[in-house]
Amino acid sequence: MNLSLFDLHCDTACEMFAKKQGLERNHLAISLESTANFGQYIQVMAFWTDFRLNDESGWTRMKQLRENLLSDPAVRSGKVDCVTACPPRNGKPALLFGIEDARIFANDLGRVDEAYRLGIRILTPLWAGETCIGGSHDTSAGLTDFGRSAIDRAVFLGMIPDLSHASEPSANEIIEIAAKHGRPVIASHSNAKAVCPVSRNLSDGQIRKILASGGVVGLNLYTKFLCGSGSARISDLLPHVEHFLELGAERALCFGGDWDGAALPSEVRTAADVAQVAELLLRRNYSESLIRNLFFENAYSFASRYLAGGNRKIEPFGGTER
Ligand SMILES: [Zn+2]
Repeated sequence: MNLSLFDLHCDTACEMFAKKQGLERNHLAISLESTANFGQYIQVMAFWTDFRLNDESGWTRMKQLRENLLSDPAVRSGKVDCVTACPPRNGKPALLFGIEDARIFANDLGRVDEAYRLGIRILTPLWAGETCIGGSHDTSAGLTDFGRSAIDRAVFLGMIPDLSHASEPSANEIIEIAAKHGRPVIASHSNAKAVCPVSRNLSDGQIRKILASGGVVGLNLYTKFLCGSGSARISDLLPHVEHFLELGAERALCFGGDWDGAALPSEVRTAADVAQVAELLLRRNYSESLIRNLFFENAYSFASRYLAGGNRKIEPFGGTER
């Protein structure tokens, strides 16, 4: 089966920066080489900043991660496009940009606008603990006043809010804010709590709300979110797929592998290995069209609907999009 892949979450930009690795060929989970067999490969690159950095250094680091990616030889030579809108179906790899952990906005609403100008289109506002944005999955706190304003501004500008890492109360408020603008919410890298009850996975109620909003969910390959233990196998993803499908997610389920940000099952070394999931699903008599939807089409139709507005390329070294 010739597959394309549109993945909603990886931390590869952070690893490229930390380990001085290029995008074309490297020792990471994501490279142009390891994803070359996909008909088309589209990836949301999350700019996550280490929690040990203070907010100011974190904001600077986020911009460094972005500049580092834009100055990568594969990007500069045009082998991969960095885009702010759904890329065309031309077989060319493309990257969209996200921020993971918006505490680096540091109570400054101007930074929401700046992030948008820098080409950020996916906003994962929370990560851990309580921040200027609000409560993460490991707390029971909701959004702060600043968090509400920041997410409202982000959604107004056209960013997609991401519930992954949010507490239940924060998630509910994010859903309400997005609904006010008639915009969807996503969970870029979270599995089902009903299958694996960890705080980073989604309750059935949250999954239903995401689906009702027109949003998508990215399946996370982190072993602890698959089955709660470090010894998960790739087949442990199947009960999650089944559960999401039972809740009606056939046109909303995607991958958000958490590549280069988490411990993955031992059978998964690079993103190429995600093709094993297709084989497992075929063996269980899932249709090819369902598999194509999961790997690519669901994320692609979501992006073409909600990340429209011109297909602008982010130019290397351009401080702002063209
Ligand atoms: Zn994450």
